[in-house]
Amino acid sequence: MADPADYNKVEVLIVGAGPAGLACAIQLKLLRPQTEICVIEKGAELGNHNLSGAVLEQQPLNSLLDAAIPGWQNSDAAKEVLANKVDKDNVLFLPSKSTGFNITFAIRLAKLLGLGFGQMTHLGDYSLSISKLTKWLGQIAKSLGIEVLTGFAAADIITNDSGASAVKLVDQGLNKEGHKQPNYVEGETIEAKFIVLAEGCDGLLTEKFVEKAGLKRKVNQLYSVGVKELIKVSPEQYTRFTAGRVIHAMGYPLWTPVIGPGMFGGGILYAGQPEHLAVGMIVGADWKYYDFNPEDALTLFKRHKRIRRFIEGGTVVEAGAKMIPEGGWYAVPRDPASGAIGKGNVLIVGDSAGFVNMLKVKGLHNAIDSGMHAAKAIAQTADNPQTAALRYTNLILESNVAKEMKRAAKFRQVVANFGPLQGMPLSVFGTLLPLFDIEKDYEAMAVAKYRLKPNQNFDKDTFVAVAATGHREEQPSHLTILDSNVCRTKCTPRFASPCITFCPAGVYETVQSVVKPANPSNCLHCKTCQRKCPFDNIRWTCPEGTGGPRYKRM
Ligand code: SF4
Ligand code: SF4
Repeated sequence: MADPADYNKVEVLIVGAGPAGLACAIQLKLLRPQTEICVIEKGAELGNHNLSGAVLEQQPLNSLLDAAIPGWQNSDAAKEVLANKVDKDNVLFLPSKSTGFNITFAIRLAKLLGLGFGQMTHLGDYSLSISKLTKWLGQIAKSLGIEVLTGFAAADIITNDSGASAVKLVDQGLNKEGHKQPNYVEGETIEAKFIVLAEGCDGLLTEKFVEKAGLKRKVNQLYSVGVKELIKVSPEQYTRFTAGRVIHAMGYPLWTPVIGPGMFGGGILYAGQPEHLAVGMIVGADWKYYDFNPEDALTLFKRHKRIRRFIEGGTVVEAGAKMIPEGGWYAVPRDPASGAIGKGNVLIVGDSAGFVNMLKVKGLHNAIDSGMHAAKAIAQTADNPQTAALRYTNLILESNVAKEMKRAAKFRQVVANFGPLQGMPLSVFGTLLPLFDIEKDYEAMAVAKYRLKPNQNFDKDTFVAVAATGHREEQPSHLTILDSNVCRTKCTPRFASPCITFCPAGVYETVQSVVKPANPSNCLHCKTCQRKCPFDNIRWTCPEGTGGPRYKRM
């Protein structure tokens, strides 16, 4: 592993080696080859912390790779990562556990009529593994001379009047009590002329920067929680599904007519590599049911007869969880003085900014596109770094990212305000509707039970095992409950300690009558707990580098 001390000063520091960060690095190296670029990533290997559906619109990736590698389409990596081109795009409505209708025609009609819903089409896209995509982009970046350093976990960002001067890495070698051990190494401080925050959803440094630099969102960021499994199925099941099919389903078990439940989100079923199908459940984190767990919804979705036949008897070979930023264009953090997405020499890209288009249910293309725009801005302001964030923002405003994000800008708030039944049809009025500032997700929790709760608890141990997550056990817990009294006196009596239920990895337990993050080593870095604890009583910090899940095909 590279020594952090070798990298205490760089020209451009990119935090996060996901698609946005790597697209930024590659594009910048092409535009300005002399730029010294360093990408740091907390995962042990490239792609380990990247999980998504994922359906990718081709255009931004194509334009990045066309410039970087002539003839890239013929490479073995391209053939593997982009093997599944979508030629069957199904949207299902599931009114109950045994009924379902194909409503793809309605989406096509909406597209013909120019309605927002019409954006939810995927023909010609790729269904892919974002872990593999990230690994491939990282290899391309390295081949261009970019330093891509895995196992480098960032703890803090050091701000100044014109943005930030440096990033501080996590200290290594503390014991559980926080005392220095013989192998203790203080986290290096990496100074940089430009800093790009590309950490993905709810990034630790991004949120610290938003607070320290006084960035504002016009409305609260809203999140959803996604849980996903990769299932090895039989050759017959895979052939029946076909390699180019994606299914998006709405309704059961998140929303059913009249008697509820009433949650936003839906299920997905995508083709992966031969004999593998990816099944997932994405749930708006503004759910109110205190006993709800997205994994329970995934279980019910997998049992639905329109889904079951493709995966029954299969083996879960990988699994994981993450959050998705759903608040849209008005939830992008801005510098109030300049309007910049970032400030001075600090640029916020991809999911860290919140560039997910909820009408398309996609954000990967915007992550890549925004990373490329950040690269152009840095190249254009090489001698004037404090103007980079504003230049980047102007490029975004002229781009397809802003165009489509603005069109979808109020969608999620309308659905949250009116509920899925009225909100979805109302959303056809698009930008004509008022902008509702919805409460934060954690504030939505109520004394209400999930009507469809399965009888059997979800097997979180197996889920964690196939996510291959782990951390060095002898380090301070990276999860903190701020006030145990709040758990004891307010939360447990009212909501029965929902963190124990909703954490997909079973991190929280009651130990001797006290709720604790008893198993931090199981953590999947999804951050759900810090956004869904009903009393905003949990904080996630970054553990030592290399800890966390080890996704390879997610
Ligand atoms: Fe409730 Fe939050 Fe305490 Fe868990 S940490 S018991 S969710 S207040
Ligand atoms: Fe996600 Fe928090 Fe559980 Fe970790 S502890 S897996 S961040 S909910």
